[in-house]
Order: sequence, then structure tokens, then C-alpha cells
Amino acid sequence: MTVVVLGSANLDLVYEVERIPAPGETVLSRGFEAFPGGKGNNQAIATARAGADVRFIVALGRDAAGDRLADEARRAGITLQARRVDAPTGSAVIFVDQHAENSIVVNSGANAALVDPTMGELADIAAADLLVLQLETPIATVGAAVTAARAAATTVILNAAPSAAVPAELLRAVDVLVVNEHEAAELAGEPDGTGERSLLSVLTGHGCAVIVTLGSDGALVGVPGQDPVKVPAVKVDAKDTTGAGDTFVGAFAAALDRGTRSTDLASLVAATEFATAAAAIAVQRKGAVPSIPTLEEVERFRKGRSRERHQS
Ligand code: ATP
Repeated sequence: MTVVVLGSANLDLVYEVERIPAPGETVLSRGFEAFPGGKGNNQAIATARAGADVRFIVALGRDAAGDRLADEARRAGITLQARRVDAPTGSAVIFVDQHAENSIVVNSGANAALVDPTMGELADIAAADLLVLQLETPIATVGAAVTAARAAATTVILNAAPSAAVPAELLRAVDVLVVNEHEAAELAGEPDGTGERSLLSVLTGHGCAVIVTLGSDGALVGVPGQDPVKVPAVKVDAKDTTGAGDTFVGAFAAALDRGTRSTDLASLVAATEFATAAAAIAVQRKGAVPSIPTLEEVERFRKGRSRERHQS
């Protein structure tokens, strides 16, 4: 059973500063670290840590950042299907001030060169059980990957993040759409939001199953024609929610892959329960990739919580 993740990889350059510099200003950094990032990369790592066999289709530059991201992905047990292109590896420059406010500049770099899927990439998608996509990759590539998946009966999970317009025919071709509240409102054409359940009914109107993540409130699971089910978040003391969404998507994909891969309501709710547990562990830890738990950690955490429930 294989999950193919097609998406972005960035090197995140994080500068700790007392305050974010104003135009024309130079400030000294108090600390600096470089971390692997990008939604595709984070979700590939989250899916692999949650126990799935993962192939990651990605474009990296022929530079040190690309070598580092490739090494870290391989160390996470991912099979890399990487194009090395004549563009710098994607990067993000992140300033974090003393109040944990941030300012971010993203350079898509090599990620923008992930166009015209090759025969090999399309064959990998066709051979996979599940395909996981996000929107940090050119939309035409996302469309071509979905078409290849559909022709081969590969189940498609689209995490429509970051927020962007998605053609209606693409939504119709997806099996499961995963979005946060903000992305759900944007896709439903109601940027001010009109209540979770009404957003969900607009989105399931495209014919696909939809999961709307609600931060510390958990997630709503909807399939066309049935009442949605709310899966509560696991109550924890959250320290850093960076990467919660990517951890959720990866864990959800791995759980669905381990099960029947059916997208009926019961299977989606079961995968969502696993994903909320994984994300609850991640929000108690610092960083994105370092916070993503393994399958064993999620299973231990769930056992502990269920024991606590029985004792109380
Ligand atoms: P981010 O962009 O911060 O990575 P997101 O906006 O894509 O996240 P959220 O809806 O904030 O996604 O969070 C995804 C999932 O993570 C939620 O459905 C929930 O299960 C879990 N989660 C997020 N915040 C918390 C929290 N404070 N406590 C427990 N679980 C949380």
C-alpha cells in the first residue's frame, strides 16, 4: 500500500528578532535556525511517521538546501521522486518577534518548476492507493495528477491550502477535500463565513467528502447527502500550533490507507479521530517537522486518553 504525496518543499529560515524590521530598518537577529518545511514536505513526513509507505514527488534546486531536504526526507523513510531543477530550492524567510508574531516571505523557487508531470510520476500516481495534494504546486500540475489518479482508481485527498480558488471540476474529481475554516469559507465563496455546517453543505455539494478542521474545536466530517459528524479535538495544553494542519492531513491519509480506503462516513470519522490525536501531540511541541509524532506515539497517546476516560 503506497501513498504518493505530490507537493512543495522549502527550507524555512527562521530569525528570532526583538521586533520585525520596519521598511529601511536593519535589526540584529537573536537566534537563527533552518528547518525543512513546505506543505508537501511536511505532509509527506507526517504520512510516513504515521506508518504509511510514502513516495514524495517534488522539485528541488541543485543546491545545498535541496541536498539537505532530500537527505531529511530519506531519513524519515520516504522514497523520494525528486526532480532537480535549475532554480533555487523553495525557501521561506521567517521573522519571529518577542511576542511570537511573525512576518514571512516565501520564494517558491523550484516548486514552481513542478510542471508537466513526467510519465514516471504519472505511473507512480496510478500505482498508488492514495494521492495527497496541496496548493503550493502549480494548479495545472495538481489537475493533471488528479486526472491520472482518477483513471487508475487512486483515492485523492486534496488539502486546499494555502487558500486559493480551485476550479469546480477539480473539486468534483477529488475524493476527500481537507480545509481549515478560512479555506472552507473562501472555497464556498463566503469569505466572512456563515457557520460551519452551512459551509460544509456548500462544499459537499461538489460531490466529494469534506473535512473542515476547526483548530482547538476539532473537525467536521461531511459526505454528500448525510448529516455531518463533529470529531472533537483532544484537550491538551497547546504550545505551538505550527504544522498542526499538515500533521492532521498526513495522519489522516495514513489512517485511511491502513483501513479500507473507503470514503464512507464511518471510515472518514475513524481516520479523523486518529488525525486529531496526532495533531494534539504536535501542538504540544515546538516547530513543524520536529513536532510530528510517530504511529507508536499516537497509539500510546490514544490508549492513555482512553484509560483516563474509563477511570473518570
Ligand atoms: P496550521 O495552519 O496552524 O498548521 P490549520 O489552520 O491548517 O493549522 P487547524 O484547524 O488549526 O489547521 O488545526 C488542525 C487540527 O489540529 C485540528 O482539527 C485539531 O484536531 C488540531 N488542533 C489544532 N489546534 C489545537 C489545539 N489547540 N488543541 C488540540 N488540537 C488542536
